[in-house]
Amino acid sequence: MASKSSRTISRRSLLKNGAAAAVGGGAAAYLAGGAAAAQQGGAPAVATGTQAGRRVRAYIKYRNELPTVEQITMRAITERDVVIRVEACQACYSSVTTALVPGFFTGLGTGRVAPAPMSASVEGHGCVGIVEAIGPQVQKVQVGDRVITCQHAQCGVCYACLRMRGDRCMNNRRGPFADFNGMPVTGSLGGGGFTEITVVPEEYTVPVFTDIPPAQLANISCVGSCGFGAATTMAPVEMATDVVVLGAGIVGMHAIQGARIRGASQIIAVEPIRYRRELALKLGATAVVDPNVEGDNLVKKLQEMCTSKVAKTDRRFAGGGYVGPDYVIEAVGGDRVKPKTEVGPDPTGVLPLQQGWDLCSIIGTYVTTSIGQPWNANVQFPAANWADGAKHHIPGSQGGFGSRKEIPRLVRLIETGQFNMQALAPKTFSLAQSKDAFQLAGDRTAMVAAVLPNG
Ligand SMILES: [Zn+2]
Ligand SMILES: [Zn+2]
Repeated sequence: MASKSSRTISRRSLLKNGAAAAVGGGAAAYLAGGAAAAQQGGAPAVATGTQAGRRVRAYIKYRNELPTVEQITMRAITERDVVIRVEACQACYSSVTTALVPGFFTGLGTGRVAPAPMSASVEGHGCVGIVEAIGPQVQKVQVGDRVITCQHAQCGVCYACLRMRGDRCMNNRRGPFADFNGMPVTGSLGGGGFTEITVVPEEYTVPVFTDIPPAQLANISCVGSCGFGAATTMAPVEMATDVVVLGAGIVGMHAIQGARIRGASQIIAVEPIRYRRELALKLGATAVVDPNVEGDNLVKKLQEMCTSKVAKTDRRFAGGGYVGPDYVIEAVGGDRVKPKTEVGPDPTGVLPLQQGWDLCSIIGTYVTTSIGQPWNANVQFPAANWADGAKHHIPGSQGGFGSRKEIPRLVRLIETGQFNMQALAPKTFSLAQSKDAFQLAGDRTAMVAAVLPNG
């Protein structure tokens, strides 16, 4: 490969001259490592390009109607691609509109309608599966490895990754890996997972050396990393604190358990659905509150529950005072479709966003994770408080979750019984039942649903 300009370093010339190590172990050495291993006889068994023409079944969206299960034809893989036989993929609530409401092309709450069916997208936000093949430059996974594919890549060398924000990695390069009826087929976030086979660059993969059931591992990508990260990475919750978790869906349940593991003393789950409140109590919540019962009194009620727990006094100069929770983690979001369970006070999800800010202590940390609120809706902060106050706000659905570090950590917590994923095991469906999985997610009659594309 010739250099495109005088400033571009050819990987091949580096290897030829034995200069890969001489560049200081930086990006060039990292990227060239797989090829160097190949030259030394450590080449992976599977070569680039062997997947071309392979036909697999996938649940794809390719027009302004509902997704369907179709046969797609795979393209040749590139040097850094990983071919994965999908074991399980959870039906993310944020894709419910895409799956159930004709006209929605994206699941991210935008309501945007695609102008024309130019491409097809495999549903799903990352998955768990077994590596079937790898390109010759892939380093960190091998054929036969179980991997979790993440919503975001984590390359380890970009501006965001070097600043410990792997959740905002800028190397999210991911092209089509298949074709259908002349249209390129790309995976949704994390390569999608509603497919027998998916293909992602290795930056999206994290090997997990565990025999935890795949359906449970499917929770980790997207929703699990979002909720667990909210409590353990960007906040992170300190021991002996008061934590309020708004919303005890699958994201909130991960936040509740994260807060428990971090040593919070009081964890209050706010959730309108009765079975979810009951499960929250089993997973670490010390109290639950029904927002429909509290109504307009919710903020005051939660603040009172977190007032002077340690000092047991209202005297400010003795360490007391009207305080409120040290942490608020919001995991509500907007309703995509009408649930078949109890409905919260505000289907748009905007009211809980506002309440979270209002109830957090004056020096507390407020983590927001949800998506799906109307674009034209606003929350309000007092200008002086926002500009010169001491309340922290951490936005973003992945909460600083660096997948390559955090996923093995979460797996270990599950294996040691510190994190209860069994209680959050999804109800499972076949690939042909993909729509039913999203229907269940939309109905909210179960905590989470997952599809097992290979049976
Ligand atoms: Zn998702
Ligand atoms: Zn990166």
